[in-house]
Amino acid sequence: LEVIKEKGLSVAVTTRKEKADYIISESGCQGFCQMGPLVTLYPQGVLYTKVKPEDVEEIVDETLVKGKLITRLFYHSPNDGTANADIQHIPFYKLQQRTVLKLCGYIDAQDIEEYIANGGYAMARKAICEMSDKEICDTMLESGLRGRGGAGFPTGRKWDLTRIHKSDVKYVICNGDEGDPGAFMDRCVMEGNPHSVLEGMIIAAKAIGGTEGYIYVRTEYPLAVERLRIAIDDARAAGILGKNIFGSHMEFDIHVMEGAGAFVCGEETALIASIEGKRGMPVPKPPFPAESGLFGKPTVINNVETLASVPIVMQMGSGQYSSIGTEKSKGTKTFALTGHVANTGLIEVPFGTTLRQIVDDIGGGAVNDDGTICGSDFKAVQIGGPSGGCLTKEHLDMPLDYENLGAVGAMVGSGGLVVMNNQTCIVQIARFFMQFTQNESCGKCVPCREGTKQMLALLDDIIQGRATGETLNLLEELANTVKIGSLCGLGKTAPNPVLSTLRYFRDEYNAHVFEKR
Ligand code: SF4
Repeated sequence: LEVIKEKGLSVAVTTRKEKADYIISESGCQGFCQMGPLVTLYPQGVLYTKVKPEDVEEIVDETLVKGKLITRLFYHSPNDGTANADIQHIPFYKLQQRTVLKLCGYIDAQDIEEYIANGGYAMARKAICEMSDKEICDTMLESGLRGRGGAGFPTGRKWDLTRIHKSDVKYVICNGDEGDPGAFMDRCVMEGNPHSVLEGMIIAAKAIGGTEGYIYVRTEYPLAVERLRIAIDDARAAGILGKNIFGSHMEFDIHVMEGAGAFVCGEETALIASIEGKRGMPVPKPPFPAESGLFGKPTVINNVETLASVPIVMQMGSGQYSSIGTEKSKGTKTFALTGHVANTGLIEVPFGTTLRQIVDDIGGGAVNDDGTICGSDFKAVQIGGPSGGCLTKEHLDMPLDYENLGAVGAMVGSGGLVVMNNQTCIVQIARFFMQFTQNESCGKCVPCREGTKQMLALLDDIIQGRATGETLNLLEELANTVKIGSLCGLGKTAPNPVLSTLRYFRDEYNAHVFEKR
């Protein structure tokens, strides 16, 4: 900003309302983490990567004043070295289909007018002023939108089940308690486009007859909390939240609730208990939240990405939305692509995209420990975090969707995608996830509380050379017991990384046991 002003140029900061030659706007995450810090110049769509403070003067002199591009700051492909600054043609972006992430990294997340100028809140207005609750539920059902938080339950069906229960008070909860190691999709949506989440909640409220909303965000996401609070205040001031929304009789308001970072609070009954001021512990279902949720009232809970998808479904129409994806998994999914891959970052692709397209084309290929590119010659990709499973090279051309992933012992989960190269010890990875879930077990039920502890001990035996031929059988048997006997999703899915790595990498476990590697 100082450099631009020194050059005598007219500049406005964080608002596009002022008349100025240049506007400096702090956006949310643009997704391409590997190449940050990023500077994007619009309307040209020029992307500069790995920008340092000392580059600013040159960017102002050369690009802003003279209109020349600075090759040094271009994206350089790790595969063939080609340089490119056109955001539309850099493979990382070109091969994605960004709908939920479309405005993240483009608009100023703290300016409601920017969201509105880009079509924001038009669908909330339409839902409130032109549609019945049943029509909204039917639109969601017909679109095929399924919950993006892990289980993949049809959103329209969940809403309709809540809608049919009569109550003077009903709640809409947004689950922003993203806790998987390696996952940051919801965080980026809340930080980069918080109004899209609010709009999804308002539409959900109209669909179920909701009167009050809560966004449950982990306190480790302070920027998300701050931006959500600003967004809620601005929406209230604009008459989009509160009484008589859009001049209608509808009344709906939203509160932000900060969670203390317990992974189990992502489980919906534990999350509800936490909002009620109780210890965040799951309870058996039924009753389901649709019937008796927060404070015993009918409640709908959706995760951040699901709610941010709702205005997009409305805008596209159910027909167009359902044309994206596979037969049973519609629309797009965001993934946090991390680990041993050239281009790490936040991506969004249609369901049905293959692992090869994600790792090789968008990710630029897997990388070895020495930094050389090994393309699709990797060991495994952990999908779905500690609740998920691993995929291998044999799954490279499998279209990724809820059904295919479930069939191979993995799951979409919330969307963490961690690439592991051939130098990775898969048993250590299984141990890492087991340690995580063991730490996060709330301790309420025995199979999870004691089972995860014993599984961790068995993995330590394997890694530290104390295992015998029986250890693997015991580990597998215990994993299946924990899976069947645990009360909530955390315990039921905790064994997945072990079971899935045993399925695909038993030789590596055997090598630890018999060769004491
Ligand atoms: Fe708690 Fe684990 Fe039982 Fe869930 S499965 S209730 S996290 S002990």
